[in-house]
Formats: sequence, structure tokens, C-alpha cells
Amino acid sequence: MAGPVKTEAVVLRSIRYGEADRILHVYTPMRGKLSAIAKGVRRSKSRFGGRLEPFFRLNLELHEGRSDLMTVTGAETISAYTTLRADERALNGAARACDSLGRVFDSGEAHPEVFNLLCSALTLLDDHPENATDAFQIAFRMKLLLAAGFAPQLAACANCGEAGELVGFSPAAGGVVCASCEAGSFELDGETHRFLTDALGRPLADLPSVDARVVALADRAVSETAAHHGQVRFKAIA
Ligand SMILES: [Zn+2]
Repeated sequence: MAGPVKTEAVVLRSIRYGEADRILHVYTPMRGKLSAIAKGVRRSKSRFGGRLEPFFRLNLELHEGRSDLMTVTGAETISAYTTLRADERALNGAARACDSLGRVFDSGEAHPEVFNLLCSALTLLDDHPENATDAFQIAFRMKLLLAAGFAPQLAACANCGEAGELVGFSPAAGGVVCASCEAGSFELDGETHRFLTDALGRPLADLPSVDARVVALADRAVSETAAHHGQVRFKAIA
């Protein structure tokens, strides 16, 4: 499928290459994650200006040749997220979100909903940099797992289906478990269970604030589920 490709994209990573080039890892709605080389981009007179940096949302024109690496032939900014860029917390939050996304969706599969999720996360961090919390990262990861098809089961025991008292979280069973199925689980209190449910079901803009203990437990539930069911290793949250 050689030839020109036009796509929206968010830059996940931008790596210096040679004297003046950059290798970009971008996420697109219909081509998933792809890599492209931008030649001469680090020269002061480059027509790309500074827009091939991480977290830019762009209209990209690419040339697809025989190799896996496409060539950037044109780039137009849709959103530069300038507020986010000026705030260290938000910048760090965007980097963590892009890293998590790249770990779960590492192929050329089309997931327009994941692209939209990434754009809403970036917009939210740009509008309100104080949103860049650990809880935000956990909720973002939960939504990635949902899109990938292995979100933890939270409404009933993941092992036997009983909706009675749920006392633990079992990464192997893939969710919360009841007292009779608690083998291999770790204890999960009601507050953390509620937070996980909210993180999955509520918009990123509407997350409850929780303390460090809930964040640590929720992080464990999400990380171990991702590792067990998706062979995905997230970076540590704290
Ligand atoms: Zn059970």
C-alpha cells in the first residue's frame, strides 16, 4: 500500500535522529500507532516549525513506502495544547497518558475511540492542568483497558457471578471477588471499589478525589489486571 496517507495524529514521542531528523511515534484514529521520519525538522528553516513535538494534535501528510517507517511530507496543527505545555504537572500527565496508551495499543489496528479518548485527556489537561493527578492516570488506564477488552469486572464476583458482598480483587479472575472466591485475591475496601467503578464509568472530567491509599490499591488492581490479561506492563504510578 505505497503512496500518500493523510491522517489526524497525536505525537506520542519524538526522538532525535541523525543530524537534523526526528523519528515520530504517533497515534492515529484509523491506522493506530505508527512511526514516521521527519527529515530536516531540526533545522531552523524547517517548514514543519516546532509542531512535530509530543502532544501536538496534527493533520499529517505521510508517504508510505516499503519500510515500516513512513515519511512526513506535511503537518498542520489542529491543537498545540499550549497551556498544558507551560505546566509541568500537565506536561508530565500528558507524557504518562501517552506512555500508557502506547503500551496497550502498540499496533496499526484502528481504534478511533482510543484516539478520541487521548484527545479528550489532552484537552482536559490543557483546560485544567490541576487534573493531572494519579487518580486521572488510573482512570485513563481503566478506559484503555475497557477499549482493549479487558477492563476488570466490578459489578459482581468475577469468579462466580454473585453480586453479594465483594471483599477482594483477583487479577487472575479479572475483577472483584466474593468471600467464597477470595483465594489469590487482595483485600479491596468499598471506597476503592467505588473509585474503580467511577474511573471506568464516569468521564475523566468528573472523577472523585481520593486519598493516596485508594490510589495505591486501585493502581495495583489496574496494573495487575493489565499484566495478567493483556501482557501489558504499565509504569509505576507513584
Ligand atoms: Zn464468588
